[in-house]
Amino acid sequence: MKPPPFEYRAPTTVEEACAVLASLEDAKVLAGGQSLVPLLNFRLARPAYIVDINRIAAIDRIYERDGGVAVQALARQAAVEDSEIVARVCPLLTAAVRLVAHRVIRNRGTLCGNLAHADPASELPAVLLALGGHVVARSIRGERVIEADRLFSGVMETALAPDELLVEAWFPASSQPFAVIEESRRHGDFALAGVVRAVDRLALFGVAPTPVLADPRDPARGLQPSGDLEATAEFRLHLVRVLTGKAFAA
Ligand SMILES: Cc1cc2nc3c(=O)[nH]c(=O)nc-3n(C[C@H](O)[C@H](O)[C@H](O)COP(=O)(O)OP(=O)(O)OC[C@H]3O[C@@H](n4cnc5c(N)ncnc54)[C@H](O)[C@@H]3O)c2cc1C
Repeated sequence: MKPPPFEYRAPTTVEEACAVLASLEDAKVLAGGQSLVPLLNFRLARPAYIVDINRIAAIDRIYERDGGVAVQALARQAAVEDSEIVARVCPLLTAAVRLVAHRVIRNRGTLCGNLAHADPASELPAVLLALGGHVVARSIRGERVIEADRLFSGVMETALAPDELLVEAWFPASSQPFAVIEESRRHGDFALAGVVRAVDRLALFGVAPTPVLADPRDPARGLQPSGDLEATAEFRLHLVRVLTGKAFAA
């Protein structure tokens, strides 16, 4: 299918992008397009405006700050995967990004777009949560930091305001032992369920509307995952227990 009609804007600076977002009702940011374009094509999203940030220069850096690694809005997932800085400072993120889709998708898809999209089965929001990272949001009102435990508010919903641009995500350094383990039907598919271990912290994905922190001794407690054609709720709970056991045995 083809996307519904929309008006297209392509700002060339962050300031311009924020001004454009503030001036428009019903606009969506376009980064890598790997989630937004399918949603448009299936007509599950019908924004009046698309604000393409790909013409903005110098917002694709990956750099060290405050003992962790910062990933800017246009850094592709493949660049994160290949980054020497990420591998050294936050190898948990390197391991997790390799589980996201396939390399061709990671060549376009951005890490920040992945967080903004907030798919409950995504690996990277759970990594941000397990490590206690944050994102930086920018708008015409200024800049604010949103901690991981306040960012994800529902299925594909975040605390970002409609006129805010996610300009950077920050991941604390990951220490040993860490693990990211998921179960999916095929390599590259979204996970049926998955776990992220960061030393003694555990975050789960694919089993709730958002990534959630859990007690490693009783990881399925309080969870009410949904069942679908891919997996029943009971199977997802079973996966959580088995994958947590593996992550903490590793
Ligand atoms: C076949 C396939 C398999 C996939 N498998 C996985 C998987 O296993 N795991 C996984 O995590 N993901 C998977 N994905 C999704 C992929 O990781 C996307 O790239 C990612 O979710 C979105 O990043 P993007 O840059 O493409 O964002 P876009 O598609 O451009 O945007 C996605 C959403 O985020 C918003 N957005 C993007 N950037 C910003 C920003 N800087 N500020 C504010 N809002 C922003 C957009 O407005 C839109 O609502 C898959 C995609 C495909 C097509």
